[in-house]
Amino acid sequence: MAEQHTSETFGFQTEAKQLLKLMINSLYSNREIFLRELISNASDAIDKLRFRAIADPHLVADDSDFQITIDLDKEANTVTITDNGIGMTREEVIDQLGTIAKSGTAEFLHQLTGDDQKDANLIGRFGVGFYSAFIVAEEIEVLTCSAGETDGTRWTSRGEDEFSVDDAGEIPRGTQVLLRLRKDAEEFTDDFRLRSILRRYSDHIGVPVRMRKQKMSSSDDDESSETPQTPEYEVVNSATALWMRSRSEIDESEYKEFYKHVSHDFEDPLSWSHNRVEGKLEYTSLLYIPKRAPFDLWNRDAPKGLKLYVQRVFIMDEAEQFLPLYLRFIKGIVDSGDLPLNVSREILQQDDRVTSIRNALTKRVLGMLDTMAKKQPEDYQSFWNEFGEVLKEGAGEDFSNREALAKLLRFASTKENSNKKTVGLGDYVERMIENQDLIYYLTAESYENASNSPHLEIFKERGIEVLVLFDRIDEWLMGSLTEFDGKSFQDVMRGDLKLPGEESDKDKDEAETDSEDEEPSALTKRIKSVLADRVESVRPSKRLTNSPACLALGDLAMGIQMRKIMEASGQSLPESKPHFEYNPGHPLLKKLDEESDDERFEELVLVLFDQATLAEGAPLTDAAAYVTRLNRLLLELLSA
Ligand code: ADP
Ligand code: MG
Repeated sequence: MAEQHTSETFGFQTEAKQLLKLMINSLYSNREIFLRELISNASDAIDKLRFRAIADPHLVADDSDFQITIDLDKEANTVTITDNGIGMTREEVIDQLGTIAKSGTAEFLHQLTGDDQKDANLIGRFGVGFYSAFIVAEEIEVLTCSAGETDGTRWTSRGEDEFSVDDAGEIPRGTQVLLRLRKDAEEFTDDFRLRSILRRYSDHIGVPVRMRKQKMSSSDDDESSETPQTPEYEVVNSATALWMRSRSEIDESEYKEFYKHVSHDFEDPLSWSHNRVEGKLEYTSLLYIPKRAPFDLWNRDAPKGLKLYVQRVFIMDEAEQFLPLYLRFIKGIVDSGDLPLNVSREILQQDDRVTSIRNALTKRVLGMLDTMAKKQPEDYQSFWNEFGEVLKEGAGEDFSNREALAKLLRFASTKENSNKKTVGLGDYVERMIENQDLIYYLTAESYENASNSPHLEIFKERGIEVLVLFDRIDEWLMGSLTEFDGKSFQDVMRGDLKLPGEESDKDKDEAETDSEDEEPSALTKRIKSVLADRVESVRPSKRLTNSPACLALGDLAMGIQMRKIMEASGQSLPESKPHFEYNPGHPLLKKLDEESDDERFEELVLVLFDQATLAEGAPLTDAAAYVTRLNRLLLELLSA
């Protein structure tokens, strides 16, 4: 029949071979997952058709008995998975089975290390789908006919380089995937083995999965075996959508399997929450927190959102309206009893019921995280390491849940002396020293960069904890977090620092700054005349114990990190001048105060100013001048 139909051959993406090799290596011991992937696809295909048939019932007029059938042939060493779902047109087959695994495959493969163990972990983030069948099959033949059409398409491939497509003539609606198994995969033609795998992978699916009935004893059939019979089938799964069953009847492994079906993840989830809500609104939700961030978490176009069902009928994937963007990593389903079956994405955007469900689901997820933080702190920490930056978006923008979100934040801190983000604001407040009523923090490019900042000196000396923030999003976050537990936040680089119980600190060197109105000292004035309009002001510092000088930001000035980000994006920003703070107790400044040579005084002040700029991690406006000046001073020192 190939003569009268067009046959074409296509190359897979160049990554195909590499991907296949990787899968065989890393999933070999767990290769039965191919069955999960194929059943999952068959069930998705039936879900899609069920939905299409609501508006277009004639699509299923000839066969509305949805099912998935598995046939085994020991002699031929084949397994066939057949569904009567939506099927694919010729273009769809080429497009969907030819691209292996979505955009980003190449990027993904670049991350591979060649170390099998690490790569096996990576593949978990990826979701290999249909292509995983090549782990057990040396050749795959797909016969498929799209609902509403009569003629189908045949797709065949050995997985490595290319696949061919030709017309298959008149075939029933749906998709049949025939696997010619590799020699070492014979075990999958064993009826008993297959049934036990199926129970794991298909029990939670709301579609019957059938297999051939096994004959009880062969002697009964001896006579009749002459006349070939149509085989009898029996349903081997429970065929009830998992979320419709009651929680007490579902065991952990079923929840985990269902997660893999909805998320295309290979790993178990970190946690989940299954709830039925009755009353004004009726809906069921099953929400999962993944263990690890997908490789495309920061890709704007990456799929996100829940699977939406209305009264058990699948409506759409990636219904984004049921969770805020900052919870885009949550996987799962929501099944509404109230929404109309013909609901569209546009309607979802404005429907009050959707808004109410979204608010409730948001609270549920935050509650789940809060419980995890309290009861399984290690799990929570691993969650935070993966998704913390995304959750920070929420803390900055979701006003109605700000408190709950603030509690979930974790930061690095000078107390832990490590770049690991483990300290919650609650922990911080509990450890505040006497009279402390502010939460101190510092933003920097990295923890290492921050830990030697002159701004931390006084805090180290007085044993006051400072949170160290070094994610890109942090300055923005702190711009919108105003207080926690009644305590305001204080950027230690900013403004006129207020330290705990400072009114009683008159005996310190810096006491003179306590009274703002006091006439500036002669030294202050002399420094100011050198720095002139490079700085907003000059003042003795409360921040410093070791360093001679530092720069402080104005209360309203933009932070350094934020400035860098804005400038990098090409925005021109108004100039903002720092405050120059010097340490009056420092020997250099004592000497400076005694310096009678004006030129030398100026030289030294400029060096201090440039050094303070460098300590901020900011570039010098004239680095060459700094070097010349410093060398001149060094030479003087050496020739003295
Ligand atoms: P995913 O299921 O994550 O989309 P797969 O690699 O498993 O990725 O499948 C790729 C695509 O091929 C599916 O999205 C679907 O469009 C199509 N497909 C696979 N199996 C079937 C099937 N049995 N019936 C209809 N379409 C299918
Ligand atoms: Mg799939």
